[in-house]
Amino acid sequence: MNHMFDAIRNAVPAPDAVFIETTNGRLWAYGDLLQWSGRLANILIAAGVKPGDRVAVQVEKSPEALMLYLACLRAGAVYLPLNTAYTLAELDYFIGDAEPRLVVASPGAAEGIRSIASKYGSHVETLDAAGGGSLLERAAKADTEFEDVGRGSDDLAAILYTSGTTGRSKGAMLTHDNLLSNALTLKDYWRFTPADRLIHALPIFHTHGLFVATNVILTAGASMFLLPKFDPGQVLSLMPKATAMMGVPTFYVRLLQHEGLNRGVAAGMRLFTSGSAPLLAETHRAFQERTGQAILERYGMTETNMNTSNPYDGERIAGTVGFPLPEVEVRVADPESGAPLLQEETGMIEVRGPNVFKGYWRMPEKTKAEFRDDGFFITGDLGKIDARGYVHIVGRGKDLVISGGYNIYPKEVESEIDQLPGVVESAVIGVSHPDFGEGVTAVVVRQPDSDLDEQAILAALKERLARYKQPKRIIFVEDLPRNTMGKVQKNVLRDAYADLYSVNA
Ligand code: ATP
Ligand code: MG
Repeated sequence: MNHMFDAIRNAVPAPDAVFIETTNGRLWAYGDLLQWSGRLANILIAAGVKPGDRVAVQVEKSPEALMLYLACLRAGAVYLPLNTAYTLAELDYFIGDAEPRLVVASPGAAEGIRSIASKYGSHVETLDAAGGGSLLERAAKADTEFEDVGRGSDDLAAILYTSGTTGRSKGAMLTHDNLLSNALTLKDYWRFTPADRLIHALPIFHTHGLFVATNVILTAGASMFLLPKFDPGQVLSLMPKATAMMGVPTFYVRLLQHEGLNRGVAAGMRLFTSGSAPLLAETHRAFQERTGQAILERYGMTETNMNTSNPYDGERIAGTVGFPLPEVEVRVADPESGAPLLQEETGMIEVRGPNVFKGYWRMPEKTKAEFRDDGFFITGDLGKIDARGYVHIVGRGKDLVISGGYNIYPKEVESEIDQLPGVVESAVIGVSHPDFGEGVTAVVVRQPDSDLDEQAILAALKERLARYKQPKRIIFVEDLPRNTMGKVQKNVLRDAYADLYSVNA
């Protein structure tokens, strides 16, 4: 038995049922999925991949790339997707850390990767290079039948590197059961059936696009429109044919900037979800006004797949990430002592359940430090659970600002600034300060026509925030630095303004 792939195989509605429609109109049926994942699995085995071997993959999003993911599952390999934006220097770190048996690269990058991979004993292949004996060319001649390599619930299915928002990316070891339990829970929670057609515009090297979006569709026997990347015009043209979209907050911000977004175009959609970064209450409200649909916000991470979701039927409350999923336990604890906190009290969010990973790859000390003795994983996110049981995230522990001995949650200051007329968005960070330890510092994006200045913002905040929470300085920028998942990179901001209060500056 192959824990994850058996579930996918069992969900196949019919061999000719559509699984993927691409933006250039190509259709992939579930029968193609079974055949091509089988062909590629045969090729992986022929290339020397053994059960438990890592197969690192840095290729563009495509149906074939998804077939390679499934082939890895079937061959008993550990799938290890890498962000397509990684440079050779970054790949050197990841390949050195993971020591994969095989690296699958896109044609343009293969030569460069070869020189790195040889240092670590990894072999490099291309998925689809023309005329070069790529995996797909060989797969086209291979047997479509493949006997899946047996894998149990506790065997590793994937290693996924975290996004690196707070520091160097860590490899999260995910078991077959981690992936399967999450996919099955979500499919039911969000009511996916074979009739669903998902707009899939997320990258497939990240937990959201792969282990949420793709795995939910696969275990529901549903279908998806596979977009190489998010494009608001393209998404709007597909919407009338689709039933659901899973997105990050920037998708919604960009859809709202498009005049084509209205009630009519979204009328057949039954579900819009948002995750990976906080969705502004303002975006939630504006989207509901324009389309009549309430975005369902959810909370997940590489290490745990998904933790919480706003309800499908009940009230979806903006600014919250909803309830713990079935079988997932969420608690809030004192960050230092680990003692449980009460409702409405803010502290460290901790999670336990079948979704929680096995540990960080080759980081036993770090793994040990991030788990409590009773098995709860310390997420690094600060938040609270309100009287109705909704989980609120107030930010990351690493972003907490400590100024003059007070704890300041950046989100509280950001939401006050974001409400001021003329402000697009803001990021509040702590910057080393000779008197206060850290100085509360706000980095603000203004609307193009706004004449809002530093003094006006500081004056407005005086009336809204206790003195210790008020920023010492306001810095105006054109855009906030974001990574590929749309997360604001506060590390980059902290580095950029590190000397702001320095006496020598
Ligand atoms: P790293 O761990 O390498 O610093 P990362 O934490 O950004 O990077 P991911 O695993 O991709 O890597 O992201 C998970 C994090 O994203 C969560 O811990 C949380 O901080 C944030 N997040 C996810 N969903 C939400 C949400 N709905 N609201 C607020 N934050 C969210
Ligand atoms: Mg993280």
